[in-house]
This record gives sequence, structure tokens and C-alpha cells, in this order.
Amino acid sequence: MKASRLKHVVVVGGGLAGLAAAESLVRHASVTVIEPSGRLGGMVATVRCGGWLVERSADSFLAARPEGIAMVERMGLSSELVGVNPRVRRALIYHAGRTIPVPAGFRLMAPGQVRSIVSTSMLSPLAKLRILAERFVPARHAASHEYDDETLEHFAVRRLGRQAFERLVQPLVAGIWTADPARLSMAAACPEFLEMERHCGSLWAGERSRLRGTKGDQQATGARYGQFVTLASGMETLPIRLGKHLDQAGVSRITASATHLARRMDGGWDVSIEPPEALTRSHGSGGQVCQADGVVLAVSATAAATLLTTVDKPLADALAGIEYAGSAIVSLGFARSDVAHPLDAAGMVVPRGEHRRILAVSFLSEKFPGRAPPGFVLLRVFVGGALDPEASQLDDAQLTSMVMRELADMLGVRGDPRLVQIDRWSRAMPQYHVGHRQRIARIHERLLTIRGLALAGAAYEGVGIPQVIASGQAAAASLGCGERGE
Ligand SMILES: Cc1cc2nc3c(=O)[nH]c(=O)nc-3n(C[C@H](O)[C@H](O)[C@H](O)COP(=O)(O)OP(=O)(O)OC[C@H]3O[C@@H](n4cnc5c(N)ncnc54)[C@H](O)[C@@H]3O)c2cc1C
Repeated sequence: MKASRLKHVVVVGGGLAGLAAAESLVRHASVTVIEPSGRLGGMVATVRCGGWLVERSADSFLAARPEGIAMVERMGLSSELVGVNPRVRRALIYHAGRTIPVPAGFRLMAPGQVRSIVSTSMLSPLAKLRILAERFVPARHAASHEYDDETLEHFAVRRLGRQAFERLVQPLVAGIWTADPARLSMAAACPEFLEMERHCGSLWAGERSRLRGTKGDQQATGARYGQFVTLASGMETLPIRLGKHLDQAGVSRITASATHLARRMDGGWDVSIEPPEALTRSHGSGGQVCQADGVVLAVSATAAATLLTTVDKPLADALAGIEYAGSAIVSLGFARSDVAHPLDAAGMVVPRGEHRRILAVSFLSEKFPGRAPPGFVLLRVFVGGALDPEASQLDDAQLTSMVMRELADMLGVRGDPRLVQIDRWSRAMPQYHVGHRQRIARIHERLLTIRGLALAGAAYEGVGIPQVIASGQAAAASLGCGERGE
């Protein structure tokens, strides 16, 4: 479809995916963003109080992919970019009552240094040998077709052995995906490591070849901390600045929920909207219809499925099949003297085998400056996820006391927290289960048959902020407006 034929596009959802779509679209068409919350940014939200800076969800993003950094630059925020403090670019694993550094050079599931594997105290001699022998494990080539998939657990056990999976890979992955590794798709979640096996024969060889092509950061462990950045004044600065940019560019905003989508006879769209409950109560207003030539649904796959039920049932069914997991972040501020642990890392992850409820703790004030007042520390504790859905349902008092008990054991935390903030993210994280890529291919096929409709967001091709921005740009491009990867 030619850009000139789309006069007005409605973007449903004012998270980063929707805002990225609007930014691309507004150069070619008039744009309306529909968002019920009265604020922009969706999950990305920052709270500042009394010298503390608390991120309610994302605390940083990957700089290695260009879309996040490029958007920061376009919004004039380059001077705000801050990398992870070089002194703490490593992760700890809680094992048998101690916090132990992830072996130097070990990146999620790719080992990088023989010496660090041999010397770690978290693995048995047999498990170390098994990791060292990974280079001799035959590669499993995508046999019959493009989408040959396997679970992350199967891949990691096959290549590195069971103990390395349980003590190293599982906790590192849980900290990122809050997923069940026995269901998580390698092809959708970690294609980079599959490619290493396919192209280099082993993870050892793949990592060595990657390191030859990169400079520095070869000691960094766990989650590639050297490649993550944040904004000095908090992550929410990005959607706030983007919102101002869109206002100046003439994008309209409606504070409402989209409730229904319908094709008109002339090929355009009717988007039914309802004001949020509070507004309906105060003004007594009912639903309205917003007309458009094109629609971008930048909401969860579940919400998109509901909106599309009467438009295209197979598409709605494919979307409804994408599962979500919830989690909670308990942000706790302490006097530095109340925490015995040196906090000499970016954070700590906890293997399931340790039988704790904490999945991971990010030492936020050690990673980035300005997150806690001088003399204090800010810890972000993750609980819940696909394997412990009940944890994030505990009430505030139960959650705080459970977390405090475990932190006392694991990090020697004493005394009362000076700051407590609990953020529950119910059904927020899409789960890329085995078969996810086939599902996405089916979704794309259906979309090709529906003129003027696009999808964007974390549900499809990456949950990280750069990927989500890329999805918004790709949605605009698929409507004939803008280009991918701007
Ligand atoms: C706890 C947590 C920690 C994370 N940490 C990181 C991190 O450190 N780094 C990183 O890169 N990523 C992180 N992520 C992932 C990242 O934050 C998200 O994937 C991304 O922000 C999702 O953006 P989105 O626009 O797709 O969705 P959202 O931000 O969810 O936006 C969707 C918007 O749609 C609106 N909406 C919903 N229904 C309707 C409707 N019917 N009509 C109109 N509007 C509607 C919602 O109100 C919302 O504003 C984290 C996620 C979570 C949950």
C-alpha cells in the first residue's frame, strides 16, 4: 500500500511499541494514539522520591541493537546515556549458602574461559569436564525445515550437561525471561546460541569467534552488562520526551480503551473506544467510534486477540495462544551499613535448586549512579515468573517479609528498609514457547490478507526495549509508512 493512501492511522496502545509506530507514521499520515492510562510509556515507568530513583519495570536496555540508542539520540537524550559501572560488570549466583561469581567469560550459556570454568566452586569436577567437552558434542543441524525448534533446557543440557544447566544457565535465563526453560523456545528466545552451534560447531568455538570480533568486556559475565545502558534521569524520560515530540508533530491522543475493531465497507476501520472507568463515572460519557484507514495494535497479544475476534478468527486464535507470565519487583532501599554483602556485582541470580522464592536481585544503586541517596543502597528483587506464579500474588506484607527473610540469609541484610516499593506485573511477559516462530509466521501470513492492519509489541519478535521499538517501526513500515530500523 502506498503511503499517500493512508490518511489517518490509529495506534492502539501508548507503550514504547505504539509510540515508535506513531513516530514513524506521523511523517506520512495523521495519527491518533489511544491509551487508557493517561500516561505514555506502558510498562516503562520511573518513580522518584527523596533521593531514590526506582524503575517500576525496565531499568536499562541493550545498546548492541541500534533501535533504542537511535531513538534516544533522535529525542536529544544522548547526554543522559549511562553504562553499567565497569566495577560491577559481573553477576553472582547463590549456591549452597554463598554468592559465587559466574565464571568469567560465561555469557548466558556460552563458556568463554577454560580457567574460570576449572576454578569455579559452584560445579562438580564432572560437571566442569562436561562443559569443557562441549566443543566435542556434535552439532544438531536444523534437519528438515527452517523452524526446527527445541526448548532452552534441552539445548543447554545437550550442550553443557545437566548441572551446568541447573546451576548456571537456568538462573541466568530466569532472571531475564521469567520463563519455564522446559518450554522456552531456543529459536525464538536465544537464536544467537543456536547460530553458534550451527555455524561454529560448538558454543566454545562460537564465543571465541564472537570475542575475536569484539573489543574489551571479555571478563563480563552473565547478561553482557557492558552492553546495557540506562538514562540518568530514569527510563521513563524516553517515552515522556517521545510524547512531547509526537505532540509537536501533531499526533492526537485519546485517553480511552479500544474495545472493538471492525472493517468498514470502504476498506477503512472503525475502532470503538470507551473512556476509562474513572472518566465514565465523572462525565457519564459512553463509547465512541474512531475512524481510520489503518490501525496498529500495540497492545498485548491477548488484548489484540480480543479486539480481532470478529475481524479474523484464525488471527485472533493465533494471538490468543501466546501465553504470558507475571512477576513482581520489590524495590528496597537500605542504609549501606545494613547490608553485609559487598555488593560487588550488578546483581545475583538464584537457581531453582536452592529452593528460594527470590529469582534475582539487581544491585541497582551499584549499577547506575543516582539511584539511592549517598550512604544508601537500592536493591530490586524479582519474584514470581512462570514457575512460581503464586509468589507475585502474595499481599504486600507477606511479599516484603518473605523477601526480607531471604535477603537476610543471602546478602546479610539487617534492619528495616528505608524504602519499599512493590510493582506487580501480572501477565506482562510474553512467553516464547517452542513453536513461537511458526506461530509468528502464521500471524504474518494472516496479516498479509488484511489491508491496513499491523501488530507491534513485545509478544512477537523480542521483549527487550530495542526489539519493541523495532516492532513499532516495522508495523508502520508494513502499512507503507516509514522504514524498518530507523
Ligand atoms: C518487570 C519487567 C522488567 C523488565 N525489564 C526490562 C529491562 O530491563 N530491559 C528491557 O529492555 N526490557 C525490559 N522489560 C520488557 C519491556 O519493558 C517491555 O517488553 C516493553 O516495555 C513493552 O512495551 P510495549 O509497548 O510492547 O507494551 P506496554 O508497555 O505494555 O504498552 C502497551 C500499552 O497498551 C495499553 N493498552 C492495553 N490495552 C489497551 C486497549 N484495549 N486500548 C488502548 N490501549 C491499551 C496499555 O495501557 C499500555 O500502555 C521488562 C518488563 C517487565 C514486565
